[in-house]
Amino acid sequence: MSQTKTELLQGNLYINGEWISEEEQTYFESINPATQELVGTCAAATASQVDDAVKAASTAYSHWKNTSIPERAAFLTKAAELFEDRKEELAQVMTKEMGKPLTESIGEVGVVIATAQYMAGEGRRLFGEIVPAGFPDRDIKMVREPLGVVACITPWNFPVSLASYKMFAALIAGNTVVWKPASEVALSAKIFMEVLHAAGLPKGTINLLTGSGRIVGQKLATHSEVKIISFTGSTEVGQQLAEMSSKTLKRISLELGGKNAVIVLKDADLNKAAEGIIKSAFTTTGQRCTAASRVIVERSVKEELLKKVIALTKEMKVGNGLEQGVVIGPLVNEQQCRLVEDYVQKAVEEGGNIAFGGRAISELGTCYYMPTIIDNVHSNHTIAQEEIFGPVLAFIEVNGYEEAMSVNNGTMYGLSTSIYTSSLHYASRAAKDAVSGLVYINNGTSNAEMGVAFGGMKMSGNGHREVSHHAFDVMTEWKSVYTNY
Ligand code: NAP
Repeated sequence: MSQTKTELLQGNLYINGEWISEEEQTYFESINPATQELVGTCAAATASQVDDAVKAASTAYSHWKNTSIPERAAFLTKAAELFEDRKEELAQVMTKEMGKPLTESIGEVGVVIATAQYMAGEGRRLFGEIVPAGFPDRDIKMVREPLGVVACITPWNFPVSLASYKMFAALIAGNTVVWKPASEVALSAKIFMEVLHAAGLPKGTINLLTGSGRIVGQKLATHSEVKIISFTGSTEVGQQLAEMSSKTLKRISLELGGKNAVIVLKDADLNKAAEGIIKSAFTTTGQRCTAASRVIVERSVKEELLKKVIALTKEMKVGNGLEQGVVIGPLVNEQQCRLVEDYVQKAVEEGGNIAFGGRAISELGTCYYMPTIIDNVHSNHTIAQEEIFGPVLAFIEVNGYEEAMSVNNGTMYGLSTSIYTSSLHYASRAAKDAVSGLVYINNGTSNAEMGVAFGGMKMSGNGHREVSHHAFDVMTEWKSVYTNY
């Protein structure tokens, strides 16, 4: 059924507590990848509107940093309640904008709610330190302080949860925020912001700038009043932002791409491994930073594992994420779908065999691609090295743990590693040997629990962590206070 005009959504900028739309504002379109229908239009911020938003956040900072932590926490607690009320509506728009199944989108709003509640509580634990003084009649304390305006720049694959990781940690610590979401999910961002507005956050503490990454993102990265850049996205853009922000010596937190692997040893429970593999590889249509895109398996169990993985993959229904029973939606846009096609073609040219899938599903639309399994891949093949961000899984055979770990660590990324084994020895060694920020034993590559540090090593990040209290290593800085009495 085609949409009528009245159903279209419109997103405006949110600056200094108001929804802004100037007469000459230009708008860009948000297109549903499942149907190619227009979801709505969204304002593209200009460079001078970036200035306005940063100024509003900078002005609000002087009041917000002196607001008591319980008061700041109360806004987050209120927001958590309001997100509950709009969960289904927000999830629907997320699925329409970026394609993942509605159940996944609903789960993501659940993460936003949990993050708001968690960070509201963490505010009470922004502890400092008392240091024994080296002289008589002196006290020394170290306290955490906010820095000022935080620019949060986020990708489209998790439209709202990644924003909540960044924004709620920034806000509870006393910083103010300017948020630039990915253009594909600008309308989801608008609803997220409406909820925070309704929660009563003081004007200027939170600001939303939709529009081109090249204009808005770059302006934020070079703005002298922005003190922190908190970015999640591709390694390439992360590198550019790091370079741009270095001139003003900003703090920058980077959560970047991955080339995650599931290692399966011959003593593993192969049924459990197969279940973990398909969930990690194909949910969110493989468009997760922690998606498994490599299975590194001991030669003697490869055939049996491959059969089990194919059997489970066949049961995964591909379709419009709003339809019941669909577990794999479309890719986010046609460009991403063509990119996946190119990678699969290259894999075959380099010697890989398509064991399952390997083609676009044009019967469903222009953004659908079959969950695809490629066998006979070698660790130096393009498909085993580069992040694809699609439902493509490469099988790489090895001769045992040592080779498996060497292949696992043999990419530029270091986000997530999983190992399936019944050996305590190899499980414990993998926890030490994997050069990745996340290690899972007898579990797939994708899981993040509240309170647990999240982030990657090597080119998957620059050493900072989100979700847990370690987020405050980014969102605060230390002040040392000497008192002679
Ligand atoms: P992306 O192209 O890097 O974009 C991310 C954000 O940066 C978007 O808001 C984008 O805005 C903006 N941007 C793009 N070019 C920019 C520029 N030149 N200067 C400043 N900002 C710019 O990434 P994506 O395609 O949205 O997301 C996929 C990537 O994110 C994958 O590599 C994935 O692994 C990574 N990711 C990592 C994590 C993690 O926690 N490690 C989590 C999720 C995703 P526009 O949309 O307007 O271009």
